[in-house]
Amino acid sequence: MYSHILIDLDDTLWDFKKNSKIAMQEIFNDYELIKYYDSFESFYDIYMAKNHQLWEQYSKGEITKDFLSLERFLYPLRIAGCENIELAKTLGTDFLYRTTQQTNLVEGAIELLEYLKEKKYNLSIISNGFIEVQYTKLRRSGLLPYFSNIFLSEEVGYQKPDIRFFQAVLAKLSTKSTECIIIGDNIQTDIQGANNANIDAIFYNREGCGLLNVSLDACIVDKLLQINTIL
Ligand SMILES: [Mg+2]
Repeated sequence: MYSHILIDLDDTLWDFKKNSKIAMQEIFNDYELIKYYDSFESFYDIYMAKNHQLWEQYSKGEITKDFLSLERFLYPLRIAGCENIELAKTLGTDFLYRTTQQTNLVEGAIELLEYLKEKKYNLSIISNGFIEVQYTKLRRSGLLPYFSNIFLSEEVGYQKPDIRFFQAVLAKLSTKSTECIIIGDNIQTDIQGANNANIDAIFYNREGCGLLNVSLDACIVDKLLQINTIL
């Protein structure tokens, strides 16, 4: 029987994919990045691939937040022949601000939280996202009131999937692993982290990715509301 549910934020509840694309389209238009790229899509594909790779490195502790924040914009500028560090910094800061203004949620997010609240679970956010944006995102999108605790890796001092992140969360909640379950959309950070810390997990397979060669110990759902049948 679980008493605590630990839920990832980006792309599990808050629609990071949609919100960041809207913010990036604004950035692309306002800073006239069409000067460097044929189309928004050609810029965005390069940005996304690089961003994904940098986040993997950041989650492993291989690079700093500052490097990630700069390089994800400097890289697409560099390969377009414009290695402008000041512009990359400005784009990075403005992009972060503009993402926080977006409030699209993943389908079923509020319905799921209402259901879990009704069931009297204690809900916490567990996220590797940056401090300066995560609280604003939670507040503006109406998610914040559902949560009694927010655990951000920058504040905890370790990142998912590091077992020390989860140990710190359990200690703060004065609970043990068997009383918790984790819900997340990322196999490497959320599900691997849960497995490392011996916490049960629900993998939200939002992208419907094939899992044939993946070994993970988790329930799998492809819609958030299917969680109602598990908890
Ligand atoms: Mg996520």
